[in-house]
Amino acid sequence: MTQQFRIEQDLSPKRWEGRKGHKIRAIVNHITAGAFPGCLNWMKNPVSKASANYLVTRTGRIIQLVRDEDSAWANGGVKKPNWRLLIPRVNPNRYTISIEHEGYGANGGDGTLTEPQYQATLWLHRQLIKKYDLPVDQDHIIGHYRIDSVNRPNCPGPKFPWDRLFADLKGVAAVAGDLRVAEDLRKVKIRIEGKEQKVVEGVIINNTTYAPVRAVAETLGRQVDWDNAKREVVIK
Ligand SMILES: [Zn+2]
Repeated sequence: MTQQFRIEQDLSPKRWEGRKGHKIRAIVNHITAGAFPGCLNWMKNPVSKASANYLVTRTGRIIQLVRDEDSAWANGGVKKPNWRLLIPRVNPNRYTISIEHEGYGANGGDGTLTEPQYQATLWLHRQLIKKYDLPVDQDHIIGHYRIDSVNRPNCPGPKFPWDRLFADLKGVAAVAGDLRVAEDLRKVKIRIEGKEQKVVEGVIINNTTYAPVRAVAETLGRQVDWDNAKREVVIK
């Protein structure tokens, strides 16, 4: 069953009009220290200097605070960055779109998401990737810590579900529910969890993950055939 999500609007005054001519190059993920609705009020309060384009709550609500065409105040500071797409001397808010996730103050705000929150942010990522033609890779979908590793090392936190998010966005997980993808930029390991853990090697070419279908399917106890008439790989 595909869940239905919608975007609510609750605009914050804390933004810059426009993007100074910059295109959106990446999605930046964040975690809030506080719970909803306090974190929303904080991002709308003129006293704080923080906002984001979107907030995804623990119950799976998606709230837009700053329109995509405007620049949010989410990641202006650049300190010891680790990001290939950074534009020198341009505020990163100008060319990124920021998603805040309501954090678990009580649990340390470590990046763990609830299931409805995960599904909502996955849906939102998909919308934005399609709308702005963003490749699914670790340059175009990042965490705040990649821009400011000094002051924001834990945004969005060590337990943010990167592997699951990338796997779902690449469609790899659709092959089998229990695939986990661990990426480095070119080679990729696909860990198949079961009684015996097995690792199959794949590669990423043009932002698409390729895995040897026979090795993956047979590890999952399935058979692979080639239908020559239809020129299709058949997994039984
Ligand atoms: Zn952040």
